[in-house]
Amino acid sequence: MKRRSVLKSIGSIGSLLLAPSISFASIATERRPVLRIAHLTDVHLKNYSDAPQRFAKCLHHVQQQSPKIELILNGGDIVYDMNKEQLNTINEQWKLTHSIMKQECSIPVQYCLGNHDIWWNENNKGQTIYGKQYSMEQLQLPKPYYSFLKSGWKFIILDSVHLDIDHTWYIGKLGDEQFTWLKNELKDTPAGTPILVMSHIPILTATLMIEDDIVNKWEMLGGDMHTDTAKIITLFYQYPNVKLCLSGHIHLRDKVVYNNITYICNGAVSGAWWNGNKRETAAGYGLIDLYADGHFEEQYINY
Ligand SMILES: [Zn+2]
Repeated sequence: MKRRSVLKSIGSIGSLLLAPSISFASIATERRPVLRIAHLTDVHLKNYSDAPQRFAKCLHHVQQQSPKIELILNGGDIVYDMNKEQLNTINEQWKLTHSIMKQECSIPVQYCLGNHDIWWNENNKGQTIYGKQYSMEQLQLPKPYYSFLKSGWKFIILDSVHLDIDHTWYIGKLGDEQFTWLKNELKDTPAGTPILVMSHIPILTATLMIEDDIVNKWEMLGGDMHTDTAKIITLFYQYPNVKLCLSGHIHLRDKVVYNNITYICNGAVSGAWWNGNKRETAAGYGLIDLYADGHFEEQYINY
């Protein structure tokens, strides 16, 4: 009976023969990623220790991947360091960044600001480009946090770095205005749209527990991981379409899964600031395939 009804519904032997290949094709489509991206973080670029040549090598490596990478996410600490630096030093680092990106990279890039892309503690604070403004102008970012849609995924880029309560150093947090924005972003995203979040400072990481000579307790700095982790995680828990959170900052590679969200701290393009490995993590970048149903495959690539 079943077979007869199948034949009846399909209508002819010809279409019955076609049926298996159609279903294989749809399975193959589902198995193909909708987007392949590279996550490059902590490049810390300046004319030092062959960093420009090595960064160019990394960009070539990214562009030689097959299937092709269609988008680069730069996770911040784009330039070597702007903290307390003179304007001419800062200008040189950005000039070098622009010239390498123009000459060596043809893939579009979306940027996130890191703590070293901010001009803290400079003597003359009168400049309008002080703080985050300088880097935002270089990157043509109207705001330090933003979102965009690509290939059916929503990308949320966060601004992790804020002055601490003493205004003497930075800590990882969103602040009230950005947190409200994030809440609305998640609320306004259809439940079927998977979400990838990128921040410079990790929202959640286990790398900070890898310390030598622990006696009784671990000590974590507010600048090393988001201090509003619990608040962000509680918010994310309401949105099962938040799938993946990428970060950098620690220059170590780890992957933590909590409440079905994967938090990846993706090493560093510069390794230990262009001086070899940081602990066991060598210089590298993240290669991520995103699928329409919200799952992903990822690996850390030593270029
Ligand atoms: Zn950093």
